[in-house]
Amino acid sequence: MKIGLFGGTFDPPHHGHMMLAEHIRVECELDQVWFIPVSTPPHKKRSDMSSVDERFELVTVAIRSNPHFHVSTIERDRGGRSYTIDTVKQLKEEYPAHEFFFIIGGDMVESLPTWAGIEELVNLITFIGVNRPGYSPSPVYKDHLIHIDFPPIDLSSTDIRQRVKEGKSIRYFVQDEVAEMIKESRLYGEGSGT
Ligand code: ATP
Repeated sequence: MKIGLFGGTFDPPHHGHMMLAEHIRVECELDQVWFIPVSTPPHKKRSDMSSVDERFELVTVAIRSNPHFHVSTIERDRGGRSYTIDTVKQLKEEYPAHEFFFIIGGDMVESLPTWAGIEELVNLITFIGVNRPGYSPSPVYKDHLIHIDFPPIDLSSTDIRQRVKEGKSIRYFVQDEVAEMIKESRLYGEGSGT
């Protein structure tokens, strides 16, 4: 099977993530997309990040209605800082028959040269990159990257956390069940969305 790996913080998962994963799945004829919530990201440092268990739960409800979407506990189970190269090596070993791709948005395309073990990683897996408003993907690894056009979606988890803090509605920014969970668990501050 052709599997798209989709790593992220997913704090919380939003409609940009879902649209991106579905768009790539169809465009690249992938059989499945595996969402991989990061345990501790090597690049992003936020002291108020939700726990990996909370983010895993959010992704689980966010993808529920799509039979092609799955969520993986690989980085949660490994714990510590999550390096993509470790994840990719482990998955290739566990599933030698699958062909894996790694899906990333424009901000991640830009940051690729700073990823741990990137020179080895690009020979282990093909990246699928999409544009993202505010980022101009550098062509550094263009031989190892399939670029797919994606309608610009100017939406981020940061925006959603900010809206919740300000007491603004996040309805239609995230799935209803995700909004419910944010509210019930009071994830991002006082208002916790409406
Ligand atoms: P934060 O605002 O907390 O940094 P985020 O919205 O960037 O979060 P992540 O979970 O960090 O979300 O992203 C996971 C993956 O999805 C990354 O590869 C990122 O580039 C991509 N992505 C997220 N939102 C978009 C978007 N609106 N357009 C294109 N790619 C996106």
